[in-house]
Amino acid sequence: MLLTRIGYYSDFFVYPVLIAVLGAVGVTHAGAKEAVAYIAIFLGSLALWTLLEYILHRFVLHHLPYIMEMHEQHHREVRALVGTPIWISVTLIVCFVFLPVFWLAGFATASVATSGFMAGYLWYVSVHHMAHHWHPAHNGYLYSVKRNHAMHHTDEANNFGVTSLFWDRVFRTMRRLR
Ligand SMILES: [Zn+2]
Ligand SMILES: [Zn+2]
Repeated sequence: MLLTRIGYYSDFFVYPVLIAVLGAVGVTHAGAKEAVAYIAIFLGSLALWTLLEYILHRFVLHHLPYIMEMHEQHHREVRALVGTPIWISVTLIVCFVFLPVFWLAGFATASVATSGFMAGYLWYVSVHHMAHHWHPAHNGYLYSVKRNHAMHHTDEANNFGVTSLFWDRVFRTMRRLR
């Protein structure tokens, strides 16, 4: 949905704080001995986000009534401040990541997993913002994700990944700009 300037940019200020606090709280709670295991949980959650990013974009943002219309608004006006309000994204992550992991594996694991998952989400919103508002140099990661996302805006049946095209390769929905 169309957000206010503060609403749109709050992701970039609030998520880094949440990621740092949850990561630190989790590791402190677990103890230094388990630090390596918690780094693995963080990275695993971050990787899981990339799959969810693909699934949400392909099947929810492009197919679910109401949400689909809001995403269409982004496709029509690429530079408008369209996004998910932070109170909705935080609530969803708490309900579908923190609480289930807390129930299954305890507070420390849930904190670190949520931190990793939020880092994935922040990576996604940052790359998506850059894809539409920045002009990166014509080499490197940012330029390649910008081109891949531009392809999605001309062909809505392909290139659902924003942070990478890994899952588009896996599910055969990848197209490159010529
Ligand atoms: Zn876009
Ligand atoms: Zn789309």
